[in-house]
Amino acid sequence: AKHAGKSAYARFTPDMTEVSHERLQMESLMRKALEQGEFELFFQPIVDTTSGRVMAAEALLRWNNPVLGLVMPDRFIPLAEETGLILTIGEWVINEALLEAAHWRREIGLELQVAVNVSPRQFRDAGFLDRISRALEAANMPADTLELEVTERLILDNSIETADILKQLDQRGIRLSVDDFGTGYSALSYLKSYPFNTLKIDKSFVHDVLKEAEDASLVRAIINMAHSLGLRVIAEGVEEEAQSHFLQTEGCDCSQGFFYGRPMSSQAFSHWLQTNGR
Ligand code: C2E
Ligand code: CA
Ligand code: CA
Ligand code: CA
Repeated sequence: AKHAGKSAYARFTPDMTEVSHERLQMESLMRKALEQGEFELFFQPIVDTTSGRVMAAEALLRWNNPVLGLVMPDRFIPLAEETGLILTIGEWVINEALLEAAHWRREIGLELQVAVNVSPRQFRDAGFLDRISRALEAANMPADTLELEVTERLILDNSIETADILKQLDQRGIRLSVDDFGTGYSALSYLKSYPFNTLKIDKSFVHDVLKEAEDASLVRAIINMAHSLGLRVIAEGVEEEAQSHFLQTEGCDCSQGFFYGRPMSSQAFSHWLQTNGR
């Protein structure tokens, strides 16, 4: 066992070098990506569970790099957060998402909300509120078009600043959503003290809702709790019609997932809206 441990260690070092080399390469490619226009927003519909009507879309970031190919957000967002690049990227995302919402309104005649993911680092940056106000002005869109999705990780830090920023965003009419609800191990008490509008049930609970009685109970309990607190509920990761039926029966307000529509390029999403938007 000792020997195996040693050789495992010997193999460890070169791997680490490779990893940090990849990180450095990723970081420098990411720095250029904004100038080169390599980032792209995809949009995934969020529908009313009962009527099937599209109510909103979530903006999901994609990175098309000539060297790396298509890079999914889980592969580069953590590094963007560490390096602080998420501030510039995040600003681009908010601007772009609102311009797209303006397009849906003016060209397609649909007043949809646009949900944008915000990382904790971005949220705590001093210029955050101003940047959002400017983005709303630039797109000439009302504040309640924008819904910011934050995870329980952010709320967990429990700082006065976080509470204050949430309050200010709410006062400006911007909508606030708890993403990946149920995965963050945080106390539920924040739901009553912070001005959230929406709670998104994590897809891990939705996935087995028909197979595991426990998951069904949890989803049912989350919906009831959220409603009694006056929150709207969105179920994420709805892939099958049967899951959609379950959610309808349980009174879940909105649903999002491959069953309704995959994340699409802005062009494909506009096309999707033309046929599914009414
Ligand atoms: P998320 O906010 O939880 O986004 C939902 C993820 O679930 C998306 O992955 C989406 O493609 C995927 N998804 C949607 N419907 C289904 C379904 O029916 N089944 C399954 N299995 N998956 C589904 P994606 O696009 O790869 O994004 C991953 C994560 O990256 C997001 O998770 C979010 O945390 C982060 N992210 C994406 N865009 C941004 C951004 O602009 N800024 C920040 N800070 N984070 C972002
Ligand atoms: Ca999200
Ligand atoms: Ca509110
Ligand atoms: Ca989520």
